[in-house]
Amino acid sequence: MSLFTDRAESAFKKGHRHLFLPLPYTIFVLTMKNFRIGHGYDVHRLAEGLPLRLGGISIEHEKGCVAHSDGDVLIHALCDALLGAVALGDIGLHFPDTSDEFRGIDSLILLERTMQLVRKAGYTPVNVDCTLALQRPKVRPYIDSMRQKLATAMGIDVNCISIKATTTEHLGFEGREEGVAAWAVALVTANDKP
Ligand SMILES: [Zn+2]
Repeated sequence: MSLFTDRAESAFKKGHRHLFLPLPYTIFVLTMKNFRIGHGYDVHRLAEGLPLRLGGISIEHEKGCVAHSDGDVLIHALCDALLGAVALGDIGLHFPDTSDEFRGIDSLILLERTMQLVRKAGYTPVNVDCTLALQRPKVRPYIDSMRQKLATAMGIDVNCISIKATTTEHLGFEGREEGVAAWAVALVTANDKP
């Protein structure tokens, strides 16, 4: 945007008014917020007898995710999407799985810390969209509770958080119930200057 406005200003000073774009487009460009988008992906192996935690919610199941943290694959994908949007690396960089500090940690805390990094970088989330792939159990009954948990941790309206879940029709590692995968995209916008 600054390149455009710089050129426009320079053209104006030189009297090249014919270089200007139509007014509605110019107004749109000048008032356009600075948006950025990020994508995240995560996978965890499932094993018998471990707790299953997804979207900050404990889910009754005979298997859970193998992980250094609580294994919340959905939140990990979301953190990566948010970090990706502000080009701050990934979750492993900020919360390494070799650190005792993060052993068994509630991933909602990782999400809150990720949000601190995003806000410090000068951005605020607009909306996020997440997809879970797992064969069992059915997570639809938990989705609204997950959205509320994420909204609270992120400090944004619950209507800005979408979570979808799908089976893979018994195909792949998710379908064989060997693991769970999650994808997320996050749109962020630059904070208004005070
Ligand atoms: Zn993970």
